[in-house]
Amino acid sequence: MKYVEGLHCIKCGKKYEAEPERYLCDDCEDGILDVDYDYQKIKENWSKEELTVNPDKKIWRYEPLLPIIPEIEKPKLSVGNTPIYESEILAEEFAIKKLIIKDDGLNPTGSLKDRASAMAVVKAQEAGAKTVACSSTGNAASSLAGNIASMGGRMNAVIFVPDRAPAGKLAQLLVYGADVVSVNGSYEEAFYLSAEAIEKWGWYNRNAAINPYLVEGKKTVSLEMAEQLNWEMPDWVVYSVGDGCTIAGAYKGLYDLKKIGFIDKIPKLLGVQADGCAPITEAFRSGNELEITEENTIADSIAVGKPRNWIKAVRAVRDSGGEMINVSDEEILSMMKNLGQKTGVFGEPAGVAGLAGLKKAAEQGIITFEESAAAVITGNGLKDVKNARRAAGDPIEVKPDLQKLIEIFAELDVS
Ligand SMILES: *Cc1c(COP(=O)(O)O)cnc(C)c1O
Ligand SMILES: [Zn+2]
Repeated sequence: MKYVEGLHCIKCGKKYEAEPERYLCDDCEDGILDVDYDYQKIKENWSKEELTVNPDKKIWRYEPLLPIIPEIEKPKLSVGNTPIYESEILAEEFAIKKLIIKDDGLNPTGSLKDRASAMAVVKAQEAGAKTVACSSTGNAASSLAGNIASMGGRMNAVIFVPDRAPAGKLAQLLVYGADVVSVNGSYEEAFYLSAEAIEKWGWYNRNAAINPYLVEGKKTVSLEMAEQLNWEMPDWVVYSVGDGCTIAGAYKGLYDLKKIGFIDKIPKLLGVQADGCAPITEAFRSGNELEITEENTIADSIAVGKPRNWIKAVRAVRDSGGEMINVSDEEILSMMKNLGQKTGVFGEPAGVAGLAGLKKAAEQGIITFEESAAAVITGNGLKDVKNARRAAGDPIEVKPDLQKLIEIFAELDVS
């Protein structure tokens, strides 16, 4: 917290002390807050060289840019340091100059959400809370449950999920020992019930959209990518968008890095939503207030009909000079298989939606053949095996008989 100056409301600008339980502006409806840093001081006291020799590979290596008190215990899971790959074959296929894939599904509980949940565990302790609660379509919840579990029984997670959450994600929550409430309703309704329960029992709130510190955790994906790319950012960085916190966090990380002089230029952000649930793309295009939509997509992690962080998300994309685009479920499923086949990276539907959008943006000339791009795969494919099977089809079936196998292989041209 050495360099945190405070919080400000993104609607009215009102300033607040950076208290761990300060979530929203008192004066504004949906008055989301943002954390302010003393960039000049960070610049004077931190350097790329210092970072290079820091042995901590987890997200905490970026401590000068995080709103944390160093003495507070961190969750033990190893969050961050996910790999990046260059894919020449996909760059060629999309007709762009260069493509970087960052596999954030390799975080300990299988999604980028670990970055925010690890932060929630730290902030909850600062607030003196032992129980942390959230509502989620799945990954926020499972990451919270996992990070809480890594504290070895000293803390507890209460999770509200809509009952459409995929079985894999639910299993994870239960295995990590969280108290799981499956709400018979939409994500929206699960959110409101969790808000009421948090109010009633005084738990710490891990709802990323309204907790300003969680976006600070998510921004480590940008800090990390920039460091891995030796501070040479591509022209575009691509994320799938649900509530809007991930892309807003990614922007914040880039903004911070530019402010402290670690990067020269903020890349353009491409935000990708699903055709069947694209309220943020709509608000981005119309310039109007957000209109609530239905949640019709297989990409459950971005099926958010009433996103909380749409203002931050729209601003992030706009300030970066970027774009928003939508993709169909078919495009998502097809990209799931394409990515897996050509790179060995297995993403869940929302995890590959960004890449599907990248392909489409390249086809539409939004991203040109002279430009480079990075896509973050935000969640692991094993989270949602049912849709993976829809994407990938069926295995070859054969009786245990070599002659039969030879015949089938001849037919299928396998050798
Ligand atoms: C949460 C999530 C997103 C989107 O993040 P938002 O902050 O909701 O916009 C994308 N992909 C996966 C796998 C997620 O879990
Ligand atoms: Zn305000």
